[in-house]
Amino acid sequence: MVGTCTALHLQARGWDVVLVDRRAPGQETSWGNAGLIQREAVEPYAFPRDFDTLADVLAGRGAQVHWHARGLWQMAGPLRRYYKNSHPTWHARASEAYSRLIAHASDEHEALITASGAHALVKRDGFRFVFRTPQAHAEAVRRAERLHDHFGVRHQAESADQLAQAEPALRMPLAGAVHWLDSWAVSHPGALVQRYADLLVARGARCLTGDARSLQAQGAGWSVQTTEGRVEAGQVVLALGPWADPFIRRWGYRFPLFVKRGYHQHYRCPARLRQPVLDAERGYVLAPMQQGLRLTTGAEFAPLDAAPTPVQLVKAEALARELLDLGEALPEPPWLGARPCTADMLPVMGPAPQHPGLWFNFGHAHQGFTLGPVAGRLLAEMLEGGRTWIDPAPYLPSRFV
Ligand SMILES: Cc1cc2nc3c(=O)[nH]c(=O)nc-3n(C[C@H](O)[C@H](O)[C@H](O)COP(=O)(O)OP(=O)(O)OC[C@H]3O[C@@H](n4cnc5c(N)ncnc54)[C@H](O)[C@@H]3O)c2cc1C
Repeated sequence: MVGTCTALHLQARGWDVVLVDRRAPGQETSWGNAGLIQREAVEPYAFPRDFDTLADVLAGRGAQVHWHARGLWQMAGPLRRYYKNSHPTWHARASEAYSRLIAHASDEHEALITASGAHALVKRDGFRFVFRTPQAHAEAVRRAERLHDHFGVRHQAESADQLAQAEPALRMPLAGAVHWLDSWAVSHPGALVQRYADLLVARGARCLTGDARSLQAQGAGWSVQTTEGRVEAGQVVLALGPWADPFIRRWGYRFPLFVKRGYHQHYRCPARLRQPVLDAERGYVLAPMQQGLRLTTGAEFAPLDAAPTPVQLVKAEALARELLDLGEALPEPPWLGARPCTADMLPVMGPAPQHPGLWFNFGHAHQGFTLGPVAGRLLAEMLEGGRTWIDPAPYLPSRFV
């Protein structure tokens, strides 16, 4: 999503663009996510700091978090910084910067959805957090009111009866919901990226297959090997999502990056869920998709390349069956992806500090699908060298050097 949108925004500013990927556009993390364009996600996901939650995580209780010892060991440095940055004072500061990006996400998607004729993939009637206990519901309503007052995020607080009317398929007595009114649901996230890439090609760009690891400095610019030969360019943008860290390390950059892996599985669900739902006290999402009902899991702290361990999927499936008649799982292996995260919860967007003509656009964590068009526009404006419509200072790669 991020690379394709960056290419579109550069093209719109007159650059001759080639999109190079080792697969077709939209086949990786941007394929398997929950498909939410999250206007409500103005606060980045903080590391839990209360003792009970941490104890649950460490003991492996619940479905929200799973970890591999090797993953914690490998990511220990960035995770320590992530924990520190999640202190309420620093988290509030990160939220100010994050919310400035999120505020434009729907408008920027809308422009590309219209231009690519992708309206049929997008539903604009919101997304629900549902709650099992009255205490958690009341707390969430207070938070939603604060997000409204501070960031202009619209919501509707729903009682148990209102929720039952809105989503009759939910069968467990629930305490209520927060319905985020301005968030959107995409019924096939990979197809939306493909539509954006088709638009790019229709407007004259090329999408080529190639490996970013073949990137070399060449003359005053860069070159990369593709199946159609070496492509040369004066400027290169790296939008490698979770693969950014291993890549930039080869160029000498040690940024506090890490991944939170996540799984999905589709179900033939005979019951019809009208909108996506987050089971907020249990930490998984159910989202209606073209393929079936998609269940996506929370965070797994494991090395990017470790074998899949879909423990959370098993736990989340059992919890989801309390809420809904999921039906059978589709006969496909669980999908595994990885959220590209940073220790300060802000994406990395801007020029590579030590390599002229090299640009970074990654680290969009839990909301890269939402933020792709905003990230693409901001990067294109920076690369053009004029004034940007959002101040890029909080996101610049130089903050880590
Ligand atoms: C379970 C789950 C649910 C999520 N739900 C949501 C959600 O509802 N809403 C939301 O906004 N976000 C969500 N996210 C986060 C979101 O999916 C990511 O932030 C986003 O997809 C990242 O986009 P990207 O373009 O940076 O990375 P990617 O989509 O992974 O793209 C990176 C690209 O780099 C290519 N690549 C990698 N290595 C090379 C190489 N060596 N050479 C050439 N090409 C290479 C890949 O093929 C890929 O196409 C979710 C994530 C997960 C895991």
